Amino acid sequence: MNRPRVVVIGSSNTDMVIKLDRIPRPGETILGGEFVVAAGGKGANQAVGAARAGCQVTFIARVGTDMFGQQAVAGFAEHGIDVSHIVHDPNSPSGVALIFVAKDGQNSIAVAGGANSKLSPADVTAAAAALDGASALVMQLETPLETVEAAAELAAARGVPVILNPAPAQPLSDQLLRRVSILTPNETEAELLTGIAVTDESSAAKAAAALRARGVPTVIITLGAQGALLADTSGVERIPGFAVVAVDTTAAGDVFNGALAVALGEGRALPQAVRLANAAAALSVTRMGAQPSAPSRQEIDRLLAL
Ligand code: ADP
Repeated sequence: MNRPRVVVIGSSNTDMVIKLDRIPRPGETILGGEFVVAAGGKGANQAVGAARAGCQVTFIARVGTDMFGQQAVAGFAEHGIDVSHIVHDPNSPSGVALIFVAKDGQNSIAVAGGANSKLSPADVTAAAAALDGASALVMQLETPLETVEAAAELAAARGVPVILNPAPAQPLSDQLLRRVSILTPNETEAELLTGIAVTDESSAAKAAAALRARGVPTVIITLGAQGALLADTSGVERIPGFAVVAVDTTAAGDVFNGALAVALGEGRALPQAVRLANAAAALSVTRMGAQPSAPSRQEIDRLLAL
């Protein structure tokens, strides 16, 4: 099978995680936590997720010149990711996220974007040649929206499909949505974008239809342990998730998007690609951390074969 190359544009953060019995309430202090530092940021998680799933990856991002950014970029290079388009910004700190993870796998996250919030349309224009010959451009919304919009235009002009994970949720223009080939909101994001509360398969189908009506040909709403709902020109189908014991759901959506891009780049049909993405994301929730939780292709194939 061809080894596709995807371009990921987006955020890189250092995640500082405390694992606790439960997430503290405002004003509350809880002792007895376990501290872990791990590479994160939705863009970087998608890039590592795709690289681990067996793809060549070019990551376009902005980090500070501090220790956090240097360690993050060294980690990408270890995964074989092309880091030549990452801008090292001497005037901004690298992005960091402070994360609580509760025993039941729920999380609560605060992010200081730093250099991520400086990733500009000029940065992506300077790296546009990386899009030539790419099988997909994968993005999320942890970098400025105008940069996401500029990148979507550059990809569309080259006929490169855009996979957009609209997270963290924010309103999006119809002009951007028309440039997106596949939109992958979770339930909350789908609700914010459509005003339709997504609580089950039928409300997910309604939200997907509303998004398709705004110009996105394919909508995949991720449904946590339930898997994902796929809506495109051939209809609506729920692709079930894989039953696993959830330890930490951080980056499940990011790993899903990275693996989805790989599967589509290999020429798989959408339902099979979503199934592979469900398998990769399910494996990621069985482990702590963002990038360290992304499974290898061998692990994904093993789960798919069960
Ligand atoms: P996000 O992480 O963006 O909030 P979801 O919670 O919908 O998104 O999870 C994304 C994907 O991760 C799901 O579509 C599913 O494939 C997988 N996933 C998430 N939670 C679980 C779980 N508890 N068990 C198995 N798979 C899961």
